[in-house]
Amino acid sequence: MSLVDNFNKLRAEIPKEIEIVAVSKTKPNEAILELYNHGHLVFGENKVQELTQKYNELPKDIKWHLIGHLQTNKVKYIAPFVTLIHSVDKIKLLKEINKQALKNNRIIDCLLEIKIAQEDSKFGLSFNEAEQLIQSSELKDLNNVRIIGLMGMATYTFEDVVVLNEFQSLKSFFDKIKQTYFAEKEYFKELSMGMSGDYKIAINTGATIVRVGSIIFGSRK
Ligand SMILES: *Cc1c(COP(=O)(O)O)cnc(C)c1O
Repeated sequence: MSLVDNFNKLRAEIPKEIEIVAVSKTKPNEAILELYNHGHLVFGENKVQELTQKYNELPKDIKWHLIGHLQTNKVKYIAPFVTLIHSVDKIKLLKEINKQALKNNRIIDCLLEIKIAQEDSKFGLSFNEAEQLIQSSELKDLNNVRIIGLMGMATYTFEDVVVLNEFQSLKSFFDKIKQTYFAEKEYFKELSMGMSGDYKIAINTGATIVRVGSIIFGSRK
């Protein structure tokens, strides 16, 4: 099967209103172009340097999502073009995104990354920290960033019940946050969860964006 076949199969399986971010990290431009020429425009990368290089080399109507951890000092490289940053985990980072967005005369859409996995290595805010960030007075001055939802990664495990519980807890938190702080804000509507191994569970639990790499492009080295 070609990667376009892989994508079509996945696309047919997932409700139309759910966005698929094709995670192209470590994959060559040719692979991205194959899917692009088929009409898919939304791609995700987890490293700033790789993302910036691919942005420079590939068609400019690709919508690039940054899905991996973002350091404050690297925001400037992606601020001119990034479509959505999935991994905001500090107010300091959000301030820098705002600053660079302003420089580029844009508003940059962001998701708050929430730590739901029982693994130490994962980045992200606790539910409490996320709520504090959303309530903070500093956020109100950031007119060039827009928080449009939340992102989470489940524990890497074959125990579906663990993944299900984590996604459900994030969905409940999302609903509460939306109701409490974004009730009149229609733009707060995205819940980014689910990867190749757990996207089915994520969709059944309310994901609006899935980030899928290896199912489309094949496994990475
Ligand atoms: C790599 C990555 C994915 C995609 O992983 P696959 O298992 O290849 O689908 C999704 N989200 C993040 C944050 C990633 O780093």
